[in-house]
Amino acid sequence: MRIDLHTHSLASDGTQTPAELVEAAARAGLDVLGLTDHDTADGWTEAARAAETAGISLVRGMEISTRHEGRGVHLLAYLPDPAYPPLVERLALILDGRNARVPAIVERLQDQGVDVTEADVRRVAGASAAAGRPHVADALVERGVVADRREAFDRFLSPGRAGHVHRYAAELVTMIATVRDAGGVTVMAHPWGRAAPGTLDEAAFAGLAELGLSGIEADHRDHTAEQRAELREIATNLGMVVTGSSDHHGLGKVDHDLGCFTTAPDQYARLLELAAAAAVRSGRTTPEVVA
Ligand code: AMP
Ligand code: ZN
Ligand code: FE
Ligand code: FE
Repeated sequence: MRIDLHTHSLASDGTQTPAELVEAAARAGLDVLGLTDHDTADGWTEAARAAETAGISLVRGMEISTRHEGRGVHLLAYLPDPAYPPLVERLALILDGRNARVPAIVERLQDQGVDVTEADVRRVAGASAAAGRPHVADALVERGVVADRREAFDRFLSPGRAGHVHRYAAELVTMIATVRDAGGVTVMAHPWGRAAPGTLDEAAFAGLAELGLSGIEADHRDHTAEQRAELREIATNLGMVVTGSSDHHGLGKVDHDLGCFTTAPDQYARLLELAAAAAVRSGRTTPEVVA
């Protein structure tokens, strides 16, 4: 059984529609796909329909932009009730924050002599729940300023670069509790990856596990083989679930092909058990896995 629990569609910064993503997952030989767009459940309905047609399992999830001790970290949330009001409110704050900073990014880029407009960014963001840095990057590619998203981040959009503008993120510990109260389970996305270099150590993970964090995404392209082994050991010591996934973004990220990292079936089964227990405790109506 091949299980990939972290992917993105056009509902955030992937380049495939949710249906195209599901179809690509089926063609790639995946049995289980997790759809985890940034801070939104917008792609869920289309993806669920496509998964039924394609005959693969779909786990409805999202990747939430949070902050922990001043650093941006990504939290994977699986099977929460997407209508749970505190979750809805906090996701709206993140999406609004992302959208609201576009004019400031564009202004800074224009100050650098880069020929790009807010309208460009809004147009390439299209149906995405919010326009983020990857869409600014796509606008720069379209204008011929850079060759690809990676170059756009390296030259303009990463922290410390001229086009980097801070935005709101939810507090990690608050969000772990919010997802739990929404009947879902949480897994720390690529904790030692490029986007979160301030390493959470075993003691930190122990504290987060107490607060309800269920798993660690150890197997991810942004981790070295040593980091993956070490994260796996930490998860094992703490009795946490270990996941692996592609973080596929369609054409938006290279070397993140569907299924390039996967989650072991026994770990997936544990995650689903924890989700089922959280759903019961919360009393919320949570999404079923499309089987
Ligand atoms: P935002 O939340 O708008 O600041 O955008 C952050 C998103 O940009 C991340 O979640 C990644 O998907 C993407 N991203 C960050 N760094 C890079 C990079 N170097 N190359 C391509 N995409 C990136
Ligand atoms: Zn992304
Ligand atoms: Fe991420
Ligand atoms: Fe991601």
